Formats: sequence, structure tokens, C-alpha cells
Amino acid sequence: MAMTSDPYAWLEKSLATIHRADWHRSVQAIAGPSGPQITLEGQPVLNFASNDYLGLASDPRLAAAAIAAIQTYGTGSTGSRLLSGHRPLHRELEQAIADLKQTEDALVFSSGYLANLGAITALVGARDLVLSDQYNHSSLRHGARLSGATVVDYDHCDLGDLAQKLHQHRQHYRRCLMLTDTVFSMDGDLCPLPALLDLADQFECMVLVDEAHGTGVLGASGAGGVEALGCTGRPLVQMGTLSKALGSLGGYVAGSGALIDFLRNRAPSWIYTTGLTPGDTGAALAAIALVRTEPEQRSRLWQNIHYLEQRLDQQWPMETAKPIPFKRLPSQSPILCLEVKDAATVVQFGQALKQQGIFVAAVRPPTTPTSRLRITVMATHEAAHLDCLVDSLMAVATYLVLR
Ligand SMILES: *Cc1c(COP(=O)(O)O)cnc(C)c1O
Repeated sequence: MAMTSDPYAWLEKSLATIHRADWHRSVQAIAGPSGPQITLEGQPVLNFASNDYLGLASDPRLAAAAIAAIQTYGTGSTGSRLLSGHRPLHRELEQAIADLKQTEDALVFSSGYLANLGAITALVGARDLVLSDQYNHSSLRHGARLSGATVVDYDHCDLGDLAQKLHQHRQHYRRCLMLTDTVFSMDGDLCPLPALLDLADQFECMVLVDEAHGTGVLGASGAGGVEALGCTGRPLVQMGTLSKALGSLGGYVAGSGALIDFLRNRAPSWIYTTGLTPGDTGAALAAIALVRTEPEQRSRLWQNIHYLEQRLDQQWPMETAKPIPFKRLPSQSPILCLEVKDAATVVQFGQALKQQGIFVAAVRPPTTPTSRLRITVMATHEAAHLDCLVDSLMAVATYLVLR
């Protein structure tokens, strides 16, 4: 039988559906290095959309470390770590991560996404149960599905719901793995880790925490949410990324020596991929050294966060009578979110802010269940930048309400 129709025709139809729902997204080019002031599609803007919380992505000391690593080892690792891709620099970085996290060992992956896929698929399989916070990052949810385990979502940060689901399901499975972000990437709030770990003990569950937005930002030494929440040293699988506060690229898992040795033997996204490049490895190593030796950068970040929160609260008190087109979501991190009623509104809001020279992320379904402006604060923002953000938010909010 001759097939005459175009097998790719569905793509156009599917794209049209995405457009109709205001879900369509495309890329915007930034010229030059990351920082509080950038040029976006040719327009100078203040940057509130970066995960470069400490400003390290454009720090000359990271660039120098990357260049030195490339001069010593070349640009590529040329093989998987178990074959020909392992360099002394990888080991140094893994030891630096384990030192920062106060774990026995650590393993670096090519990205945080791959670290989650690799760790979860190695730890659980078809006979096992995964309990996952409903707001977890895509890489956790995707890893859980890929593992073949039975996946049960619990309500966001709701330990009552989690306990009920453990009572209902745990006994029917071999192993159980709980998954949670420490800092939720699209909300900015923290998971209730101490009580969650108590529940895990009670039901013999492993726990994997995603520290992508915690590392370098939270905790007295910058180790992350685990440190800030007083859980250092408790048995845990801690993953994170080198690509946010650490200004490089790559992911990691930190934990017991047995865990790391097991992952080196069983995590497919580590075994069958090329080792992290020398440049990224060198930059990440320099970043961890700066997190440890320059805590003032972290203090500056937190001063900025508190200043912005205070300015927002002055402008829009929680029980305001003023009609406002957004609701501030609770946050304990550099991620501040303003929820708006729908995808079309958040897109308009984002565009109007951009015309005023303010770059924030307009986040919509399917990334999050509700639409929101996602504002990220950096240590390198000046008070004037934060003032300018609040003024522009006020101008655009007034305009959107009056219209
Ligand atoms: C960004 C992010 C990741 C993925 O890290 P990459 O290194 O960018 O692949 C994983 N989890 C969370 C919560 C993230 O925000």
C-alpha cells in the first residue's frame, strides 16, 4: 500500500495547539557575559532571570581556572570516565564537593538532569516505589518514570499526605525512594526536610534531595538546603548542579562511599557518556573554593533578597485593598514568584516589563501548574537595580489593572 500523507504533518498541528493555549516558547539571545545588566535581543535590560546567584558565571577567576584546565588537559575528555575520560581534575572536584557537603564521596555527571536520571534509575526499579513531591523538577519526575518504579505524587510539602501514602503503599514494594527539591525551582520555597527524613526512617525509605538551587546559596558554609535545614550527616542521596550558583556546567551526587561506588557501576547516564570537560571541571572547582573562602558574596545575596522582599511588601502589603494582578508566593530563597491569573496575562506582563528594561521569566504551564513571573536575585545586583524592578512592576501592574 502506498503511503502518500506526510508523516511529519502532525508537527504543524501540534504547534498550532501549543500557540492557541499561549504555551508556545522560543529562545532569546543574550550578548556578552551573564550579570545584572545584559543585552537581550539587542536591548539593554536588568537581569532578574538568571540562576547565577553569586555572579560567578562571569567571574574572571573561574574563566582563568577553565583556561588553565584546558591548557593542561585539552578541550574534551575524549571518553567515558570508566574508559579514557577520567582526569585527576575530576577526582579533585568530587573531593571538593564531598568536603563541602560533608559526605564520604561524590560523583560528577555531565549535567544535573543526567545526575537525576542516572541516580534514580540506578536506585529503584520495577519492584519499587517512588514518592515524589508534586512540584518536583522535571528531571526528578522524568527519572522516576524512567526507572519503571511505581510513582506516587504527594501534595506539595504536605507530610500528612505523604504519611498517608506511605501507610497505603509502602508494604507492597521492595525499596522506596522519596524525591524532593530542597529549594523548589519554580516557587522558591523549602521542603520540610527534618520531618520528611523522620518519616523516611519510620518507613525504611531512601531519600534523594535536589539541591540545584540550594548549593552555594543556603547554609552557613554554602553547602545548601540540607545544611540550612540542620540535616548534615543524615543518610541521604544529595544531588545538585554545577550550573547555577557555581557558574559552570555539570551535576553531582554526594553521599556515602557505597552509594557513589554503586552509581559508578550502575548509573547509565554516567557510565555511557563522556566525562565532564576539563574547562567545566576547572571552573566548578574554582567556584567551590570561592563559596568556601568568600562567604561575603552569599551575605550580599541574602541582603539583596531581604531588601527586595521588604520593598515588595511596602508596595503591596499582604492584606492590601488595592486591586493587584498578582499574588506573591512564599519563598525562602533567591527565587521570588508573583502568581498571575493565566498564561496570556503572564506573557503580557513579561513583555511590558521587558519594554521597561526589566527581564524576568514568564513561567507558564506545562512548566508550572499556574502562571507566574519568576524573579531571581543575584549577589551582584545593586539596590538601584532592585528599586528599578519594583518601580517597573508597579507601573506595569497599574496599567494592567486599569486597562
Ligand atoms: C536546573 C535544575 C536541574 C538540572 O540541572 P542542570 O545542570 O541544568 O541539568 C535539576 N533540578 C533542579 C531543581 C533544577 O532547577
